[in-house]
Amino acid sequence: MKKNIALLTFSASLISLNVVAQGDPKATEVWEPEPKVVKTGAVNTPPSDAVILFDGKNLNEWESVKDTTQPAGWTLGKGFFTVKKGTGNIQTKRKFLDYQLHIEWKIPQVIHGEGQGRGNSGLFLASTGPGDEGYEMQILDSYNNRTYSNGQATSIYKQKVPLANATKRPGLWQTYDVIWTAPRFNEDGTLKSPARVTAFHNGVLVQNNVELTGATRYIGQPEYKAHGASEIKLQDHGDKSEPISFRNIWIREL
Ligand code: MG
Repeated sequence: MKKNIALLTFSASLISLNVVAQGDPKATEVWEPEPKVVKTGAVNTPPSDAVILFDGKNLNEWESVKDTTQPAGWTLGKGFFTVKKGTGNIQTKRKFLDYQLHIEWKIPQVIHGEGQGRGNSGLFLASTGPGDEGYEMQILDSYNNRTYSNGQATSIYKQKVPLANATKRPGLWQTYDVIWTAPRFNEDGTLKSPARVTAFHNGVLVQNNVELTGATRYIGQPEYKAHGASEIKLQDHGDKSEPISFRNIWIREL
């Protein structure tokens, strides 16, 4: 009997191994529990000691990820900027280690698509190196738009489910306030201390000092690769829905 159970467990893990090997993105989707919906209030202005990463006037603090000699190719509006689909991610020219970040984003009032295909962008809190997007805090229209819980707005994508769904309806500006503690590595590249994240969405605590198990992976488990101070990136996601906008971005190094 015991042998049979062992055999069953063994073949079950073979099956799940197989799914991972074939690269099924569903293998890492978590749908339960679904974070509860809460309503939120007002926004905020930069404190006096903040480094302003976007003041509404220009994208001088940002560059293209595809070609870092080029300026960020996204579209500047009056007091905000908008993702220009197909131009790729953008990143800060400066590098940061530990910080407090404020960023505001808006889903267009008219938005199409569903699940991951509706207003998808992302805030990469740090990168593990060129060509790696890094640790993604998801930006998504999660207002009446169910997707896997570890892929909705303010999730650490495919890794940490948010404590609540504080998403406002499309057409309204929303805030993220994030406290990022960068991971530290030993000289041989092994992990010394993991990354930690605390985050508020529209003033609501959604990540409470969570410890990350590595950088974001679309398929498979998160993994660490040694890195130091890093750019912060914003995602040009390939979905077909209307592009989202950003404003009032500031950071305080810790
Ligand atoms: Mg995303």
